[in-house]
Amino acid sequence: MSAGPLTLADIRELHQRWLAGAEFDIGYPNAVDFDPSTVLRLFDVTLNNVGHPFAPTTGFSGHTLSLEQQLIRELGAMFRCPPELVTGFVTSGSTEAIKAALLQARRRFRRHVVVYASTAAHTCVAKLTEELCMALQVVPASLDGVMNVASLTELVAQRPEDAAVVVVATIGTTMVEAVDDVPAIHAALDAASVPASQRWVHADAALAGIPLAMLDPAERPGFDFADGADSLNVSGHKYLGVPMPCGAVLLRTDRCPAVDETPTYTGAPDLTPAGSRSGHTPLLILAALRGFGIHGLRERAATCRRNAAALVELFSAADVPAWRHPLGFTVVLPAPSEQLRARWPVPPPELARDDGWTHVICMPGKHFEVYQRFAAEYLIDRGNTTSRHLPVQHGPDRHTSGQHSSAPHHDAEHPEDAIAC
Ligand SMILES: *Cc1c(COP(=O)(O)O)cnc(C)c1O
Repeated sequence: MSAGPLTLADIRELHQRWLAGAEFDIGYPNAVDFDPSTVLRLFDVTLNNVGHPFAPTTGFSGHTLSLEQQLIRELGAMFRCPPELVTGFVTSGSTEAIKAALLQARRRFRRHVVVYASTAAHTCVAKLTEELCMALQVVPASLDGVMNVASLTELVAQRPEDAAVVVVATIGTTMVEAVDDVPAIHAALDAASVPASQRWVHADAALAGIPLAMLDPAERPGFDFADGADSLNVSGHKYLGVPMPCGAVLLRTDRCPAVDETPTYTGAPDLTPAGSRSGHTPLLILAALRGFGIHGLRERAATCRRNAAALVELFSAADVPAWRHPLGFTVVLPAPSEQLRARWPVPPPELARDDGWTHVICMPGKHFEVYQRFAAEYLIDRGNTTSRHLPVQHGPDRHTSGQHSSAPHHDAEHPEDAIAC
């Protein structure tokens, strides 16, 4: 490493490299159409939101806590949390947001807690339960990625006596963007005789929460506070396209135990797992929400869904068994060769639950031409590699899930269709 100062030329080079990479960036769910320039004016000041945005603040002015509180209220309204009950804060990302919710659940129950999450849940859930020394019980997901609620009932019924139950529902799984059904999870807990006072359902809505919230609740799976979630998280750098990792956790005050009143050096109690927190990321998330507006947020989601549907059609026309959940941006398809994956960074097939699959995600600001270019190269690649093993089982198992997908006729019922090409 050279020891000289970081020059504008260095930064330009990084930017060029990013722009070149963006031409192939179809595997990760980051929107690229957010313009943060209004907030950039504040990047020459230190903004530190240490503490909690709903706690009274004193003195120190270098923070954006009141705007952060407004942001949490706006997100609370979006996810139908009763306005008088909403609390929460901005985090470094969804992982820290889920951690905050798990900590609150544990504080509430003050006893043995078992966390339940599906095999398709984000890997951070296992990482966090290990870090927090909380028991994790993994629940099978159906082939379409949705948590199997019959299995949840069976597993919860076997919990240690007196254990409280925390379920992490995934609202948009990492690989196929499946949405766990929160009302069905509550019904499963009813069936396992879990009292309402001993359960907590967290909705991990990192990617899909905001786009799904733009739909009529009757036309999407239930996942928000009105549907029974006790807490919920979203990421700021995914659907909103905030240029640095960030997220938010939303909590219900009636589910949170009384705040530890020990004042910190800011004079306010602190519920947040972090110490110092960014004062800029709440502004960026708020700028994105208000900049796009409800109409824009809805239109962007509709565009992504249209692009994903068109991509599935394009692949289907070439007999590639691509599929998607109808409300998702994610197109699932057999993984291409290693060479093509070196060029197009899509998830390696061994990350998929049913080995052999990968995905591309149609995100706001990413042009459809890029996906078309990928598809053209994919079909050539596939032509070169058809003699190799191709995955047999794929697509949603429509018999075990209430969600319909556009997976056409070649699915688990007719595995031979998947091989013919
Ligand atoms: C991205 C994602 C996470 C992790 O979010 P970070 O912001 O990267 O910490 C967790 N859950 C789901 C469903 C995700 O999509």
